[in-house]
Amino acid sequence: MGNVPSAVKHCLSYQQLLREHLWIGDPGAGVLPAPVQATQLPGLPEYVKIVEVGPRDGLQNEKTIVPTNIKIELINQLSQTGLSVIEVTSFVSAKWVPQMADHTEVMKGIDQRPGVHYPVLTPNLQGFHRAVSKKLYGMGCYEISLGDTIGVGTPGNMKKMLESVMKEIPLSALAVHCHDTYGQALANILTALQMGISVVDSSVSGLGGCPYAKGATGNVATEDVIYMLNGLGINTGVNLYKVMEAGNFICMAVNKTTNSKVAQASFNVGIE
Ligand SMILES: [Zn+2]
Repeated sequence: MGNVPSAVKHCLSYQQLLREHLWIGDPGAGVLPAPVQATQLPGLPEYVKIVEVGPRDGLQNEKTIVPTNIKIELINQLSQTGLSVIEVTSFVSAKWVPQMADHTEVMKGIDQRPGVHYPVLTPNLQGFHRAVSKKLYGMGCYEISLGDTIGVGTPGNMKKMLESVMKEIPLSALAVHCHDTYGQALANILTALQMGISVVDSSVSGLGGCPYAKGATGNVATEDVIYMLNGLGINTGVNLYKVMEAGNFICMAVNKTTNSKVAQASFNVGIE
């Protein structure tokens, strides 16, 4: 198979960042941001890199353990969509995350398409809880994903958080990871793009949640992000229809309904 990529990305808790940047307090405490003034859409990026996290963050948080061959097929289908980054698995102990126990088989089994990166996550749980973004960047972490893993953030929070983090870390090293638990994900992503972020995590068909935020569900769906970006004239290089097909495949395989509004609207028309 060749060498297995080492940890390339750290997922930071948005809530933790909010706590550590005292200007906003606990996002769960009902502190509402001030209304954002109406402005034109300023300087959106021409290209946005989508980081597909479905096979890892998504399946890791599904209740059912997905068979290895289904995971491999999903990743192979996603590799055909134009996505340039697909997180494939997580090298964590099977004791803690049984859904990822087959990480080695998955890495070995997929067809690695040239030009596509297949990072794996090797979380350092202690580091995850203690480190803050500046420290991570100082440690040589090239991309720091700011995760709203329970989906409570709003565009107002996002703007404030980014303003704060951007004082310490160059924009080029930042990505956002939004959950749609409260229906805010696309708005939050759009806000991040307006502030210069051009790397967005998303999960095909909205698979999964986040193990560090108990009860949280709803990674933003890749299909919905691409649909929005297409509508903004932003290039992603990704074929939306092919992503929807991959989403359909995995939903059928694990017997669940897609969380992508775009896929629901596209596939369920006229179906009982
Ligand atoms: Zn997530």
